[in-house]
Amino acid sequence: MADGGNGGPGAAAAGAAGGRVHAQPQERAMWCDERFNFQATFLQCLAKHVPNIYSAEMDPLLEKQEEMVQAAVLYPLECYLFGEDPDMFLEKLQQSGTSQLCGKVFKGGETTYSCRDCAVDPTCVLCMDCFQNSIHKNHRYKMHSSTGGGFCDCGDTEAWKAGPLCTKHEPGASGSAKENSECQLNEEIMEHSRRVFPAVIKYIVDMLIWEEEKELPPELTIREKVDSYYCVLFNDEHHSYDHVIYSLQRALGCELGEAQLHTTAIDKEGRRAVKAGHYTSCQEAKEEIKRHSENVSQRPLHVEVLHADVMAHQKFALRLGSWLNKLMSYSSDFRQIFCQICLKEEAGSENPCFISKLMLWDAKLHKGARKVLHELIFSSFFMEMEYKKLFAVEFVKYYKALQKEYISDDHDRALSVTALSVQMFTVPTLARHLIEEQNVITTITETLLEVLPEYLDKNDKFNFQGYSQDKLNRVYAVIYDLRYVLVSKPTLWTDRLRARFLEGFVSFLRILTCMQGMEEIKRQIGQHIEVDPDWEAAIAIQMQLKNILLMFQEWCACDEELLLRAYSECHKAVMRCSTNGRSREKTVFHLCGHTLESRPYRVSADPVSIHLPLSRTLAGLHVRLSKTGTISRLHEFVSPEEFQVELLVEYPLRCLVLVAQVAAEMWRRNGLSLISQVFYYQDVKCREEMYDKDIIMLQIGASLMDPNQFLLLILQRYELADTFKKLKPTKDQDLIKQCNVLIEEMLQILIYVVGERYVPGVSNVTKDDVTMREIIHLLCIEPMAHSAITKSLPENENNETGLENVIDRVATFKKPGVSGHGVYELKDECLKEFNMFFYHYTKTQHSKAEHTQKKRRKQENRDEALPPPPPPDFSPAFSNVVRILNCDVMMHILRTILQRAVELETHLWTEAMIQMVLHLLSLGLLEEKQQLQKSPEEEVTFDFYHKATRMGSSALNAVNVLMLLEKLKRVPQLEAQKDTVNWILQMFDTVKRLREKSSLTTVAATSGSEATKGDESSQDKEKAERKRKAEAARLHRQKIMAQMSALQRNFIETHKLLYENTLEAQGKEDSIMEEESMSSAIDYSRIALGPRRGPSVAEKEVLTCILCQEEQEVKLESAAMVLSACVQKSTALTQNRSRILELSGDTLDPLFMHPDLPCGTHTGSCGHVMHAACWQKYFEAMQLNFRQRLHVEQIFDLENGEYLCPLCKSLCNTVIPIVPLQAQKINSEDAEAVAQILSLARWLEIITVRISGYSVKNAKGEKQSLPAFTNKGMGNSALEFHSILSFGVQSSAKYSSSIKEMLILFATTIYRVGLKVAPNEADYRIPMMTWSTCAFTIQCIENLLETEGKPLFGSLQNRQHSGLKALVQFAAAQRTTSPQVLIQKHLIRLLGVLLPNFKVEDTPSLLEVDMFHILVGVVLSFPSLYWEDAVDLQPSSISSAYNHLYLFHLTTLAHITQIVVSSATESPTARSSDNSEEAQSAQSFCREICQYTSGCFSQDIPGWLVWDCVKKGIMPFLRCAALFFHYLLGVSPPEELLQVSEEGQFKALCSYLSLPTNLFLLFQEYWDTVNPLLQRWCADPVVLSCLKGKSIAVRYPRKRNSLIELPEDYSCLLNQASQFRCPRSSDDEQKHPVLCLFCGAMLCSQNTCCQELVNGEELGACTSHALQCGAGVCMFLKIRECKVVLIEGKTRGCLYPAPYLDEYGETDPGLKRGNPLHLCRERYRKLHLLWQQHCIIEEIARSQETNQIFFGFNWQLL
Ligand SMILES: [Zn+2]
Ligand SMILES: [Zn+2]
Ligand SMILES: [Zn+2]
Ligand SMILES: [Zn+2]
Ligand SMILES: [Zn+2]
Ligand SMILES: [Zn+2]
Ligand SMILES: [Zn+2]
Repeated sequence: MADGGNGGPGAAAAGAAGGRVHAQPQERAMWCDERFNFQATFLQCLAKHVPNIYSAEMDPLLEKQEEMVQAAVLYPLECYLFGEDPDMFLEKLQQSGTSQLCGKVFKGGETTYSCRDCAVDPTCVLCMDCFQNSIHKNHRYKMHSSTGGGFCDCGDTEAWKAGPLCTKHEPGASGSAKENSECQLNEEIMEHSRRVFPAVIKYIVDMLIWEEEKELPPELTIREKVDSYYCVLFNDEHHSYDHVIYSLQRALGCELGEAQLHTTAIDKEGRRAVKAGHYTSCQEAKEEIKRHSENVSQRPLHVEVLHADVMAHQKFALRLGSWLNKLMSYSSDFRQIFCQICLKEEAGSENPCFISKLMLWDAKLHKGARKVLHELIFSSFFMEMEYKKLFAVEFVKYYKALQKEYISDDHDRALSVTALSVQMFTVPTLARHLIEEQNVITTITETLLEVLPEYLDKNDKFNFQGYSQDKLNRVYAVIYDLRYVLVSKPTLWTDRLRARFLEGFVSFLRILTCMQGMEEIKRQIGQHIEVDPDWEAAIAIQMQLKNILLMFQEWCACDEELLLRAYSECHKAVMRCSTNGRSREKTVFHLCGHTLESRPYRVSADPVSIHLPLSRTLAGLHVRLSKTGTISRLHEFVSPEEFQVELLVEYPLRCLVLVAQVAAEMWRRNGLSLISQVFYYQDVKCREEMYDKDIIMLQIGASLMDPNQFLLLILQRYELADTFKKLKPTKDQDLIKQCNVLIEEMLQILIYVVGERYVPGVSNVTKDDVTMREIIHLLCIEPMAHSAITKSLPENENNETGLENVIDRVATFKKPGVSGHGVYELKDECLKEFNMFFYHYTKTQHSKAEHTQKKRRKQENRDEALPPPPPPDFSPAFSNVVRILNCDVMMHILRTILQRAVELETHLWTEAMIQMVLHLLSLGLLEEKQQLQKSPEEEVTFDFYHKATRMGSSALNAVNVLMLLEKLKRVPQLEAQKDTVNWILQMFDTVKRLREKSSLTTVAATSGSEATKGDESSQDKEKAERKRKAEAARLHRQKIMAQMSALQRNFIETHKLLYENTLEAQGKEDSIMEEESMSSAIDYSRIALGPRRGPSVAEKEVLTCILCQEEQEVKLESAAMVLSACVQKSTALTQNRSRILELSGDTLDPLFMHPDLPCGTHTGSCGHVMHAACWQKYFEAMQLNFRQRLHVEQIFDLENGEYLCPLCKSLCNTVIPIVPLQAQKINSEDAEAVAQILSLARWLEIITVRISGYSVKNAKGEKQSLPAFTNKGMGNSALEFHSILSFGVQSSAKYSSSIKEMLILFATTIYRVGLKVAPNEADYRIPMMTWSTCAFTIQCIENLLETEGKPLFGSLQNRQHSGLKALVQFAAAQRTTSPQVLIQKHLIRLLGVLLPNFKVEDTPSLLEVDMFHILVGVVLSFPSLYWEDAVDLQPSSISSAYNHLYLFHLTTLAHITQIVVSSATESPTARSSDNSEEAQSAQSFCREICQYTSGCFSQDIPGWLVWDCVKKGIMPFLRCAALFFHYLLGVSPPEELLQVSEEGQFKALCSYLSLPTNLFLLFQEYWDTVNPLLQRWCADPVVLSCLKGKSIAVRYPRKRNSLIELPEDYSCLLNQASQFRCPRSSDDEQKHPVLCLFCGAMLCSQNTCCQELVNGEELGACTSHALQCGAGVCMFLKIRECKVVLIEGKTRGCLYPAPYLDEYGETDPGLKRGNPLHLCRERYRKLHLLWQQHCIIEEIARSQETNQIFFGFNWQLL
């Protein structure tokens, strides 16, 4: 505890505490003297030191304060307490073992783990450490982010069904030998503790609850009072940061920075002194702050003026609190003594004990104090089960007071002592104890009743109109406590428990009574309601209560006696609430000879409420009575006279009628609030305790009432009595429509009442059966993701749906692809369970499911009837429900509707109605059939068949149902129902036969076989029928196809251009193919360089502009066509991420690229072509358009030329002009002839002469701009300045002005973006940037092809292909728009690297340049040497062929040397006996190098190894060169390069590029020329230093970059994040660690501590990291949220799903579901490609286009 080893407190004190150190030994002695009163001495000491230590409150030196505290108080105190050196003692104590409980307290944002298999409830959690060391790691766990304040339950045997201990907390695991894990303190220390703790605790309590602002208690007042005060500001949740800052600035006149500092501290600590001074000045400041804050927010800030000494002692009290807190962790004895003292009540006093005092004061304490207090409770009481119980008792004792304080407090719940309830109430034994001894259920419900009265109306019902959301949220906390107490059902019931629980239940019923019928509504007629009433609060409470209601019911059902008593209490409560309407006189209603007497009530006119928790609880208890069979004893508790079933049914029925009327649009004028309420009434979040229970209540009614009366009641409440009385119907179309909807709704409810039996108790089903049925019906709609199914199932109190138990029985899992998610598909055998009228279907779900299922049956070529599946049997208590099917009124209803359909009274029926009638008929027939199959015919009284075949009346035209069905088949509108009707008719037949069979067994045998025969024949008939239908369907399809293709033709007609464009593109490919096949026949040369160069394949290019749709041939002299393009800086190829990038290119010289490729300029294109003019028009229009829109700068940087491609919406910032390839063909005979004279040596001489000639020429005019030329050993007087022209020249290409303009525009963009500078068309670096982006882009593409394992040619995406083609041709043409002198200058500098005799100043050594960049530069700038007196000539084809060949050979030689030198330190890993020609050449080459480097290069490296290095190392260079020359010259590559094959590839590359496969032959061949070059290359100091191992050069091949390796299991990342400490600040505030996926750096994002000032702008850690790591573009993983973030620059970014999937193939952004997550390699690879293809910017732009919500986020501060 003595603050991390800074030499012990003594040493620290000696250094810093000055004069006070002398007092120390004396004081220690004083305390040790037993005669002294410890408490008095202790206080004396504090009185003396504390005000001094905390004297500089405004500007405290925290370290010094701490040292002084240690020296003056804590050290002596500890010495006294332990009787020896504190450090040594605590060390010993620590060694002796730790507690079995982990008890780690979570900070906000920390990850917690729960086990779905073993946790007793979801509040039982483990910390990361314990989880990783527990058995649950391999179970079905959940991960979540803590909101702070909870603690780790490791070691709590009550929290876990299995594995309560992790290996770390297992006894004996921590290395202690003793079984008894904690050492006992000796008696002396115990004795001292008993003396020290009370004094310390009393001081803490006294100071924390101290209310005097100016005075201290007398014991602490020992000196003259000085006039020194602080003005202290407290934090609250009402005022925002800005409010506080504003008020402080105004009131104190301080700087913004200071005000911010204060505000941050206030927010963190809860209070802070903002001004020091005399009393009056502080008082003034206080008033000022209050005044200003009131001005901005209607409420003043809380400010106090405190005396400096008071402030000091309060601070110290907290310090002592954390001291105790630390001490508690060492020993159980300490904890027990501490708890005993805290719980001790003063004898004879009414005052609460210490700990209760603190609890009661909690809401008044500031944030910092609360934190210390709660931590202390965690580390003491909660670590000792015995004392936890005692604490809980105290807690419940003051529960009401605490909750009331909390409700009026304005701090978050996490900061309130009431939040501790979950730690106690969820412990099963503790909960039971609290119920038995403290009556906690009653306490909680009474608390609720006491805090809610402000919402009671005159009828004592709740009414939440105008409620305060915040306050109600605080009330929910109390409701939650109820849930915690109930979460584990007791297994053992004592009389006391029973009594207390029942008492609690009755008390709870009082709350429900206030809810029963609350917020009544009345139908609005005529006018629309003015204000939508507040409905959310009532529904929210309903949601909160749902599981509590279910748990109460479950608890009741544990015990027969209890259940009956609870039922009777609940019944009484319902009856008390059902008085409404009793004043009205009963009326009588007749139908079909049955009468119903009832009190008049109309939902459409009288008040109605959807809140009926009492009725629904009763329904819940009723099914439990039925389930347990206890219902037989019901009459003992509720007499039949009292029961009054009609009254019980009444209110739920009204509610269902309300829903029907809303569907019939009768409540239109009541606004949206009603629609929302009805939605939630049936929604999965509420339905279990609302809608479902209402259906059950109707079933109870149907089972206990006379069926006819029941139906009459229904008809009456649905206000449909008249409709079925055959009175003359109204003519009002609206009313008829309304009425039809109501009939549909009623029929549906009847179907549910009879058919919905999947409730344990209603029938004999299990919970699993219920869940399975829900899932089956969800999947009948469509295949669904796991999370979607979960969301549609109700959660129980443990947030479980039971899905996993059953899903595999009903569905099969289908894995996801690279995007999307996995889904479950219903198993075929479950399809028969489908019930079209499933009561949890919404209207849309119903029709979707019906559609899906019919379609499926059609595809299977089956009939389309979807009859109900046979339902399970009702349990005995409900068996009477089926009687409503065959009662007279039902028959009347069915007949009436069918008759209307048959008589074609179109407006009086609907198809849906008929479907429902058919469904009811099916249910009736199924029921009778099932009964007949089970029991002898004479016992089956259910006579549906009989009733349905009976005439409706005695009239002549009377009909029965059967007859009506026959007629129905002929109704044309009901064609779709024909199959169902047939099915029902067959069922009639079956039932008839069953009836007959049993009565006439003998006849049945024969008639049975006949019947089956009949069946067969009917089946045959059906088959024929179906065949006919299939044929008809086929013809129909044909017709439709014909229509479609006609339509298509029209479409092509109208979109002709578009189509022709694509056709054209296809055609082009074809022509290429043709040419290729031709070529293989002719077999022309596939060599790109030198005299045997093959012909350019340059076909005529006709392109279509995507804007004006006109086509144009690309020609030099025509107006320019352009390709949309995006130029960006990139670090995708970097070999060294730690290299600091220059953020501004003002002084950068980009001619040479470092071999690390730290940062390049990439040019990409989406491949869409426009006329330059069209593009310009489009761009201007867009600029104009967007300037008027706000925030648009976040999508496009218009200033920098950004726009979205008009076709594909990719982000672009420029265009590439399309320059046609100039087809060239050389006569190889001529060329070979030239070879005789133009050797490499001669070629070198010629260009040397040319260059020195220029230098002489130029020297005349201006200052010498070219290097002094040393013509050593190459002198040939025969050569002169013009010799270069003698090998053939031609005139330079003439570009149209429009092409020229575009050349300049694009070149300037590259320059501007690549260097981050202002555009300047005349800058000398423009050509350099052009060559550089050309080289870099090729390298990127080569890299990509390699990593993707694709062949070099033929596998590029179309956009890459056309982009690269345009880029290379542009780069060649760009030269013509720059001054040739400039190009020559650059050329000479580039050649300087290869030809040291040109050595210009600052020429980098061989190891400091990327050779491919040199190659591209020299090849593209070389023609400038042909420039002659303002005549721009260019080399002829033959000249070019030689130039290219020699330039390429030179760079290749240089590159080989680079590779050999840089791999010199490689040591052979394997032996090889390879003694090939190549190995021998390599060996001799090495000898040369060794010689030239004076032995720095070791000669011992075996030749085969060198050859191996060279062959592997040179590959990327050769591949890039092949791509470059191909796109430059258009020479077709060899076939081998269209495939992937390593060996073949090397040979093919060598042949294409005119190289010998033994590359060292190049040296031998050119030895005389190369030898001097090699000497100079090797002699460079940089090369030597590298060979000596003093510096490191890049190895070849360069490493291929990939995103960092991510762990397979996501919790590893969370683990990593939990260990993350912000590099800049030490506070333990919540951090947002993010991981850079490029380099693996972990950053502290969205936090002011890690912001950085870049060019005067505050940038968040990510944004500033991205500037370096990805040149502005970067990819991060937000670990705690499990989201990928893409960012670009300072203003743009987007979120992207992380590449982690749960076992159901779904991502989990925000870890909301918390399932275990595993890395999905394919998705991570997709992210990798996004990066390497330079598509991050594109992805961001696309996501910003689609999600318009990004405005709120400040990416800059990420
Ligand atoms: Zn733990
Ligand atoms: Zn543990
Ligand atoms: Zn487990
Ligand atoms: Zn155009
Ligand atoms: Zn495009
Ligand atoms: Zn990075
Ligand atoms: Zn930070």
